[in-house]
Amino acid sequence: AHSSRVGVFVRIRPTAHFSQDLIECLPDGQTVNIHHRKDSRKPQDSRKSQLSSWSFQLAGILQDVSQEELYARVCRRVVLGALDGYNGTLMCFGQTGAGKTYTMTGSTESYKQRGIIPRALQEVFQEMAKRTDYAFSVHLSYLEIYNEILVDLLSSLQDLPQLSPRGMVVVEEPGRGVFIRGLSLHPVHSEEEALNLLFEGEMNRIIGSHALNRNSSRSHCIFTVHIESRSRTLSVAKYVTSKLNLVDLAGSERLGKTGSEGQMFKEAMYINKSLSFLEQAILALADRRRDHVPFRQSKLTHALKDSLGGNCNTVLVANIYGEAAQIEETLSTLRFASRMMCVRTNPAVNEHMDP
Ligand code: ADP
Repeated sequence: AHSSRVGVFVRIRPTAHFSQDLIECLPDGQTVNIHHRKDSRKPQDSRKSQLSSWSFQLAGILQDVSQEELYARVCRRVVLGALDGYNGTLMCFGQTGAGKTYTMTGSTESYKQRGIIPRALQEVFQEMAKRTDYAFSVHLSYLEIYNEILVDLLSSLQDLPQLSPRGMVVVEEPGRGVFIRGLSLHPVHSEEEALNLLFEGEMNRIIGSHALNRNSSRSHCIFTVHIESRSRTLSVAKYVTSKLNLVDLAGSERLGKTGSEGQMFKEAMYINKSLSFLEQAILALADRRRDHVPFRQSKLTHALKDSLGGNCNTVLVANIYGEAAQIEETLSTLRFASRMMCVRTNPAVNEHMDP
């Protein structure tokens, strides 16, 4: 199998106060330089605070790019690959408010502002209709990971407050890869049916978070399209499967230092932990000399194992603010993004034989 790079893109949230002297996008469309003047602690040094610069190399910079263009440039290849039997993962990463949900789900305000998930669903169903030589079946699942607890966003509503009543677990099986045992799979036959389930899952996320008095941006969400296809023309006992994971990660901002207590502190601790495990896994993957990658340290890295070092076409969109006030978080998001650029995956068609 040939290996492939993770495609890492940075998307800059539009702002009237874009800080061009701090965030410099080079004309090559792939390099972002950050110039940051750290204020000196000592008052007597205040006039000569240190200016530092960092340079990040990415697959592309998405600035003033429409939802449609983003989908075409970044996602289409991965979605079409899933129809050919390759696993695909599209992920958004960044601090709260930087545009992850806008990118993944989109704005409900207008059709033009639909995000990656509804566009991917549309393309999956349109493309299947064209490929008349194949019989496809599609199932959806929607998983939320909150404080290391797995929540099925498509299970019946009354189960939600109890959190993971069926004791879901992340498991791995040869030939099947990583999957969540106990997570419900829902058959869908049209784009409309799929959008209804997406909407139901989003509602459950909101209702569940109210019931438990928590903030919905404090969890990771994985919407998965499970595709199975079989040739109608060849009479071999062979079929092909794939998973398309659409992942909205929890806000990456480092909380917990000041001001948060109780529930908020606990949430922040879990998020910091799971995101730092994600970083550790990525560091280990990027370092070819390391043969052990700590995927099992958290539910998130374990659930994303195939997407990170394994059998998958993977794209990461790093969402950043273009404003000076957020420069520290922007730096940390870009550091994560550029490490992810070093990760390689090994996508291969998932073929199976009938028993
Ligand atoms: P996050 O999910 O990272 O917390 P959101 O996606 O909720 O952030 O974005 C915060 C706000 O900014 C929302 O009101 C969203 O509609 C708006 N927004 C984010 N990115 C864009 C964009 N590229 N174009 C227009 N509006 C955006």
